[in-house]
Amino acid sequence: MHKAENLNIVIIGNGIAGSTAALRLSKEKHCNVWMVSEETTYPYARTALMYVFMGHVHENDVKLHNDDVWMKSNIHLIQSKVDRINRLDQNIMLQNGHVLYYDKLIIATGSVPNALPYYGEANHSFHRLYHWSDLIAINERVKKGVKSAVIVGGGLIGVELAEMLLSRNIIVTMLVREASFWNTVLPPQESALINRHLLAHGINLILNDELLSASGGEMNFNLVTKKGRELHCNFVAETIGVSPNILFLKNSGLESDKGILVDEFLKTSDENIYAIGDCAQLRQYNTYRRATEAVWYTARSMGETVANTILGESNPYKQGIWFNSAKFFDVEYQIYGHVPNVDDQGFYSLFWQHDTKPKSIRIVFDEETSVVGFNLLGIRYRQSVCEKWIKDKENLREVISNLSLANFDPEFYTEYESNILSQYNERFGGDVKSTSKRSLRKVLQFLNKSKRD
Ligand SMILES: Cc1cc2nc3c(=O)[nH]c(=O)nc-3n(C[C@H](O)[C@H](O)[C@H](O)COP(=O)(O)OP(=O)(O)OC[C@H]3O[C@@H](n4cnc5c(N)ncnc54)[C@H](O)[C@@H]3O)c2cc1C
Repeated sequence: MHKAENLNIVIIGNGIAGSTAALRLSKEKHCNVWMVSEETTYPYARTALMYVFMGHVHENDVKLHNDDVWMKSNIHLIQSKVDRINRLDQNIMLQNGHVLYYDKLIIATGSVPNALPYYGEANHSFHRLYHWSDLIAINERVKKGVKSAVIVGGGLIGVELAEMLLSRNIIVTMLVREASFWNTVLPPQESALINRHLLAHGINLILNDELLSASGGEMNFNLVTKKGRELHCNFVAETIGVSPNILFLKNSGLESDKGILVDEFLKTSDENIYAIGDCAQLRQYNTYRRATEAVWYTARSMGETVANTILGESNPYKQGIWFNSAKFFDVEYQIYGHVPNVDDQGFYSLFWQHDTKPKSIRIVFDEETSVVGFNLLGIRYRQSVCEKWIKDKENLREVISNLSLANFDPEFYTEYESNILSQYNERFGGDVKSTSKRSLRKVLQFLNKSKRD
C-alpha cells in the first residue's frame, strides 16, 4: 500500500478506544481507515466477560456492533499483530509480513495484565482475565473439574473472577497483599464492609499476605505464602492489576513513561501519531485524576476526541469529574469526584453505613464545606446530579437537604438519606430538613437550573 492522496489513517487496536475513533473517522469520505488488531475481529465489552461465563448473556450480546460493521463503514480490518512502528517512513510492520503506510497513526493497544514473579513451571498454568481467549481458557480449565481455586490479588477483576468461579461451586481463596480489600482505593470503612461481604459469600479471604512460591501446574498447585501458609488448589489466577500495553514500541523513539505520553489533544511526541485509551498517559492531568486511567468511558471518550482532532477540531480531551462503578458480588459500587482512601489534609466526610446490610453513603467536602465527592455501596446515586453538585462546588448543607434528588434506587427501595441528614445536624449543630423528595420532575428541574438562578 502506498501513500494515497486521501488521509490514510491506521489504528492499532480495535477495542472501545480504537473502534470509536475508527467509526467516527470512517464517516468522512476523505478518510481511508485501516484498523489492525491481534484479538477478535469485533470489539466486545470486557466489562461483561463474567456474565458470558456465568451464562447470563450470550457471546453475541457482548459484541458492541453487528459483525458486518467494518464492511458497512468502509473500515479495513486486518487481523494481525503489529510488531514495530517505522516513524521515519511512516509505516507499521505487521507480524503477517505486511507493511501499512499512514498519514496519521492512532495507537489504541489497551493494557496487559501484570504478571507475578516467576516461580517456575507453575506460572505457565496461571490464568488471567483480560482477553476473550482468557475467558475460553478459564472455561476449559474449569470444565476439567476444578474444585478449589486461589486468586492472587485483590482488585475489581479478582472479585469478578471470584464470583465466576463460585457460580460453578468452586471453593475460592483470595490472597491479598493489603491489610484490607482494595484499600488502595476504598476508605477504611468501605474496605472493611467489602471484607465482610466477601467472607459472607464464602470466599476464604486472606489479607496481609502474599505469594512466596508456587510449584506444580495444570490442575495441582502447591502455593506457599510469605507468612508460611500452604495452599493446595486446582486453579490459580493472577489478578494484580494492568499496565499500558506499550512494549512493542520500545524502539520506536516515541516518548513514554508508564504509558505513551500524550498532550491534551492526545498527540504523542510525533506530530502524526496519537495514543488513546488504556495505553495513553496524559502529560498533564486534573487534580485528583490520574495520568493513565484504565476505564471504559475514558477509552471511549478519547476515541471521540482523537477523531475530532484529526478532522480539524481543536477541542482538547477533558477528563471531567471522575466516576467509576463496579460490583462486589451483589453490592454495587459508585464513586463520583474525589474520595480519598486515606486521610487527606483539607478533606472531611460524612459517612453512614447500615447496621446489618452492605450499604453505605459517604459525602466528601473541603474546608469551605463545598462537596467534592460521593462514595456509594449498595445504594445507587444519579451521576448527573452528583456531578452537577461537584462541578458547582455546592455547599454541603444544600446537598444534604436535597440528597434524595440523587437517589436512583427503584421507587420501592428504602431511602437512607435521613441518616446522613441527622449526622450533618449533629456535627454542624444544624436543623436541616430534607427539602425535596425523590421525583423525576424535580430532578429534571434541578439539572436544568444553573447555579445563578
Ligand atoms: C475483566 C475486565 C472487566 C472490566 N470491567 C470494567 C468496568 O466494569 N468498568 C470500566 O470502566 N472498565 C472496566 N474494565 C476496563 C476496560 O474494559 C478497559 O479500560 C477498556 O476496555 C480499554 O479499552 P482500549 O480500547 O483502550 O483497550 P483494549 O480493549 O484492551 O483494546 C486494545 C486492542 O488492541 C489490540 N492490540 C494490542 N497490541 C496490539 C498489537 N501490537 N498489534 C495489534 N493489536 C494489538 C488488543 O488485542 C486489543 O484488542 C474491565 C477490564 C477487564 C479486563
